[in-house]
Amino acid sequence: MIFFTKYSSLYKLSSEMTLLFNTLTGAKDIIDEPTRAIIERLMQGDMDVECPADLREQLQKRGYLFESEEKECEQLAQMHEITKKINEQSTIPNYIICPTMGCNLRCIYCFESNDLHEECAVMSMEQLEGILSMIDESYRKAEEQAAEKAEAEKQLEEKQRREDGNCEAENCEAEKCESESCENQRRHFKGGLMLFGGEPLLPINRKIIERIYEFAKERNFQVDIITNGTNITAYAGILKENADRNHAGR
Ligand code: SF4
Repeated sequence: MIFFTKYSSLYKLSSEMTLLFNTLTGAKDIIDEPTRAIIERLMQGDMDVECPADLREQLQKRGYLFESEEKECEQLAQMHEITKKINEQSTIPNYIICPTMGCNLRCIYCFESNDLHEECAVMSMEQLEGILSMIDESYRKAEEQAAEKAEAEKQLEEKQRREDGNCEAENCEAEKCESESCENQRRHFKGGLMLFGGEPLLPINRKIIERIYEFAKERNFQVDIITNGTNITAYAGILKENADRNHAGR
């Protein structure tokens, strides 16, 4: 018995090519017409359709085919657990700022409306200062919570050591450690700002971007930019100056 994942979609790209997208694993595959015909039948639950062994093997490897629906649920639960752990381990607060919802491109898959792109409204400096104050306040609270959590964990560990009979408080490694990895942790960014939109690096946003970098520098925050890269040269100077805290993607 086999089961074709319900977390998949087909998008016709041309008369000969179709995009097969697996939202469970993130796999994306371009398939030809005969393969699309087989996959459509599998998606409809027709497991008796003739499917060549090599295609079946590929579909299994790419996470489209499962032995049963229960196996698919297991994989979903596993991925949920991994995401939960990653979120729990993330101790630094992250904030998203959209300087504008406008953009100089019109990508076909864009989820922002054309009206927002056309309007191209940019946030004012007053609005930005309001956002930055709110980030400061939220960051202060997050730090307090993290300190309380760390203190509670420390006390719990000490209690556990005492109960186990191996308390060595004066030799405690956690207090004295000067290792490279601890040094790296101390240097680690204290928070993150993500610039999103629209296109955050439009020339019209320059003052806003400069102020955001100034803020990030003062507080040792990392800056992520989701950009289409079309104006990257206009921002080359500021990006270079802040190369150690930048992370750009699209
Ligand atoms: S670059 Fe981004 S914001 Fe601009 S149109 Fe494309 S997807 Fe939308």
